[in-house]
Amino acid sequence: MAAAPALIDAHGRAIHYLRISVTDRCDLRCRYCMSETMTFLPRAALLSLDELALIADRFVARGVRKIRLTGGEPLVRSDTLDLIRRIARHLGGGLDEITLTTNGTRLAEHAAALREAGVRRVNVSLDSRDPERFRHITRHGDVAKVLAGIEAAQAAGLAVKLNMVALKGLNEAEIAPMLAWAASQGMDLTLIETMPLGDVDENREDRFLPLTGVLADLKQSFDLIPDTHRTGGPARYWRVAGTATRLGLITPLSANFCDGCNRVRLATDGKLYMCLGHDEGVDLKTALRVDGPTGLDQAIDGALAIKPARHAFRIATGAAPATRRHMSVTGG
Ligand code: SAM
Ligand code: SF4
Repeated sequence: MAAAPALIDAHGRAIHYLRISVTDRCDLRCRYCMSETMTFLPRAALLSLDELALIADRFVARGVRKIRLTGGEPLVRSDTLDLIRRIARHLGGGLDEITLTTNGTRLAEHAAALREAGVRRVNVSLDSRDPERFRHITRHGDVAKVLAGIEAAQAAGLAVKLNMVALKGLNEAEIAPMLAWAASQGMDLTLIETMPLGDVDENREDRFLPLTGVLADLKQSFDLIPDTHRTGGPARYWRVAGTATRLGLITPLSANFCDGCNRVRLATDGKLYMCLGHDEGVDLKTALRVDGPTGLDQAIDGALAIKPARHAFRIATGAAPATRRHMSVTGG
């Protein structure tokens, strides 16, 4: 049988990385991500476990080497571990890695099973270690659960990378202490600029903190050595001298990263989005339900043709979000 055609977009970029938002639901309501009163998709609109596994199979057959489950909060969906086990069957047979991004609230109960299923690394979002500030940012979260989750993940043998959204006037004073703590615990830390995705109750401009200035400040306290490590993703990296820790900066607003983009995103509603910052997507769910695997392949080919060259994020007073979708639907 002929090999399945590789995933090359109209700009010549090869797609090796698929992110899947398995649910748009979440047990937190981070202020930069969601509004307080979110309406979630009806369960019937979600891809089933079988459909998710089938789509993942197809992407691996066509050259995807890394799959990340995200959301919403992936660990609030009850069959997420089953999905991981099914996807993990491809490890060593085309797939290099299955991983997830989680808010960590349920990590303590799932860490060992994740490791057993084939996960080796997780990204855990942690915008503050201060209980009050964490509660404020997430609107009601308990940071103790996340810290216990991180500890359990490390005890289970999972490498942990922290994700921290840099928020002006909210957690900026915690950035240097967070890096020092990450280094002391053998974790990497990635800082993220807030992105204009979906309406939230707050004005994002008020909280936007350019990471160029943050980096300059960090260099006063840490010996940061530029690292050539690239993932085909948006982050640029520095090594923290004398530690095993890598600092990553995701700067969609202050430095564009699209030229080497190697990823696509399967959203909770079954649409394949080719760029986090654009509204155009291709409906894989309907293609699969109506025309089966052939329809799925055709829809993927159609999507490759429309992958935009770059995002067009802009944070300014009165500017509308770049997309109507929240990050939780597309998968951050
Ligand atoms: N619930 C999980 C979590 O928080 O890790 C996974 C989904 S969450 C949407 C994935 C990542 O996107 C998190 O690190 C979160 O902080 C980040 N994020 C969400 N909304 C964002 C926004 N508007 N701008 C930048 N990062 C955002
Ligand atoms: Fe939930 Fe993650 Fe969004 Fe926070 S960032 S509300 S944890 S999906």
